[in-house]
Parts: sequence; C-alpha cells; structure tokens
Amino acid sequence: MKEVEKLLKLGKDIKITKIEEARGEKIIYVESRKKKVRCPYCNKFTKSIHDRLKPMVIKDLKIEEHHSKLIVTKRRFKCHNCDKKFTEPMNINAKNRSISEKLRIKILQDLLNHERSLKSIHLKII
Ligand SMILES: [Zn+2]
Repeated sequence: MKEVEKLLKLGKDIKITKIEEARGEKIIYVESRKKKVRCPYCNKFTKSIHDRLKPMVIKDLKIEEHHSKLIVTKRRFKCHNCDKKFTEPMNINAKNRSISEKLRIKILQDLLNHERSLKSIHLKII
C-alpha cells in the first residue's frame, strides 16, 4: 500500500485504505491520514471524528487498457470548542511528479497486477 501511495503521488496526508478489482477496473480507496484538523469556524484543532461522508469518485484514471477509479472518503469532524461540525479539506496532490506519467502508470500497473515490491520494479527499470 505504501508503495502505491508513493507512486500515485497523492500527497503524504492521503492513505490508501483498500484496492479492489472489478471487471478489469481498479478501484482505489483513499482517506486522509491526518489525526487532527483545524476547525474553519474557530481555528482550533479537533480530533473528534463525527462521521464519514458517502465516498465519492473524484478521479477517473486510465491505466493503459484498465480504467481506475479513485474513491475518496471524507471525514466530518466535530469541534468541541465551538460545537460546530465540518467536513475536512482534502488536497489530492497530483502534481510535482518526478517520473514521467507513462512510466509512473507502467510501474503502478505492474505493482497492482503482480504485487511486486517497489525494489524489484526499481531494479527492472535501472
Ligand atoms: Zn470550532
């Protein structure tokens, strides 16, 4: 999971909770790993998760002939300072890629298809 997270360049605050495959389509579930978030109303940090929103598809990636979906589950927090509930902000960072898009997709596909370690993929490229 860690390797896939790095390859997808989702940003350090995003974690993959599950990867599924259905009819040739990869479904990647992500969630924020932040333990506490700042309340947008009073600016205090809170750790209290109130509930989770219905997961939403925010991206439709195409990995060669496979379609991939990114399913994002946002959490709702409750602030104990001002008693308000709010949805966490989530930045899915898809920029600043150090490797080319094509190579990244190839590595990801290899990783998902064959569950190879990142190390062996690296050796193959070099
Ligand atoms: Zn607050």
